[in-house]
Amino acid sequence: MTVAAPQGRAILAVASECAPLVKTGGLADVVGALPAALQTQGWAIRTLIPGYRTVLAAAKRPKTVLTLPDLLGTKARILAVKVAGLDLLILDAPDLFDRDGSPYLDATGDDWPDNDLRFAALCKAAALIAADGVQGWVPDLLHLHDWQAGLTPVYMAEAGAEQPTLLTIHNIAFHGLTPYNRLKKLDLPMSGFTLDGFEYYSHISALKAGLTQATALTTVSPTYAHELMTPEFGMGLEGVLKARAHKLTGVLNGIDTQTWDPVKDPAIKRFSAPGGKAANLRALRAEFGLVKSDGPLCAVVSRLTDQKGLDLLLQALPVLLERGGQIALLGSGDRTLENAWLNAAAAHPGHVGVRIGYDEALSHRIYAGADAVLVPSRFEPCGLTQLYALRYGALPVVARTGGLADTVIHANAAAIAAGCATGLAHSANSVAALENALTELCTLWRHKPTYARLQRNAMKHPVGWEASAPLYAALYAGLVDTCEDLS
Ligand code: ADP
Repeated sequence: MTVAAPQGRAILAVASECAPLVKTGGLADVVGALPAALQTQGWAIRTLIPGYRTVLAAAKRPKTVLTLPDLLGTKARILAVKVAGLDLLILDAPDLFDRDGSPYLDATGDDWPDNDLRFAALCKAAALIAADGVQGWVPDLLHLHDWQAGLTPVYMAEAGAEQPTLLTIHNIAFHGLTPYNRLKKLDLPMSGFTLDGFEYYSHISALKAGLTQATALTTVSPTYAHELMTPEFGMGLEGVLKARAHKLTGVLNGIDTQTWDPVKDPAIKRFSAPGGKAANLRALRAEFGLVKSDGPLCAVVSRLTDQKGLDLLLQALPVLLERGGQIALLGSGDRTLENAWLNAAAAHPGHVGVRIGYDEALSHRIYAGADAVLVPSRFEPCGLTQLYALRYGALPVVARTGGLADTVIHANAAAIAAGCATGLAHSANSVAALENALTELCTLWRHKPTYARLQRNAMKHPVGWEASAPLYAALYAGLVDTCEDLS
């Protein structure tokens, strides 16, 4: 039986996560939101994702559209299904994906030892779809996301697929490295193991494969696009990116404003103006065991990793608490950070509340109730939490780096007077700067009319895909048209 392909010029997106089916961070949100955003621009996206156990459970009555009896040594098939408005192609390879645990980690928190093979298989499957199509559907272009999709152009060249490819870098910290002796197992050509190919200090780098071989590159904010070419942010790949600077564009992420809408959100007490947050704030205090206090309730929703600067926030915490501020933190990740935050909650009962774990519905309640959302990242390619914060009238207090710098308008006197301020921005990687920002926040919070005005500005700030979808559409069109002219 055939499965109707979406209408419009055809894109195959390749990613390791896609909301709402499987999510560990912002990548999933973006991969899940782009198809609807690009549909309005005449591009029809089918998204290829791994058949994790949770994904297969959510896919009702999928159709097998391709059988791959020997995909890098394992039995696999491609399933087509529509879920939550998404046209999905699922790589069903039970040996690789039918497991408990997260997409990348086992139950003990370690990387799956065969992650290289798992995502190489995803890339190889994408290349085979590009070369042969599925049931007559052949993509005009492939949109690849992060290292997990990085090897696709290499396999495409081997398979004779000539479509253009666009690789989006969501976070350059993750390279997808694996030892050289895995070349054969991954069925990669020796000829690609060079400085201009995917060799990285005697290892195979899946990300570098994409950076050097994709037709064009994007990253998720204009500021991060510049930062990536510096030693401070390029994580050893700044030279590769500088060499391809003419192919790299920063396109700011948006959010799905249908799912994230305080007026319609079923997870919260709905509101359309800052005043409507009060009931959510009360509920949030109760949920985190916080007492009433004369200061802003600040929230954090985050992976707990060095990137996110939450160790800096722990150091700045006394300044916030002295001024009546409180913290509600939801996150998981690094065990040391988890324990440090649990200790902070124990030391400040009623003023610091911590939930270790991943809880999508709770995150909605947090954005709805919080007065402010803190994002003190050391680096941040785009960041989505500040965008949800804006949408839900929780003022973002952010480090001035990457996409945080591009999305929050600092509330200095001029910006407040002009009516465009939406939050506070401070220097990254500085406890003193963070302390100043928290002090400023507490002062602003006491001027209720000003604070409410900033919240209204925040809620009006455009955070959807209105601006960025046409940029992606133009990039897609440029790549496909150039490719057609050459053939
Ligand atoms: P990153 O992708 O680096 O983790 P982003 O800010 O781009 O950071 O995206 C993070 C996404 O994950 C947001 O949608 C945020 O709400 C969500 N998130 C992060 N941690 C949690 C958690 N513990 N529970 C629920 N949602 C979370």
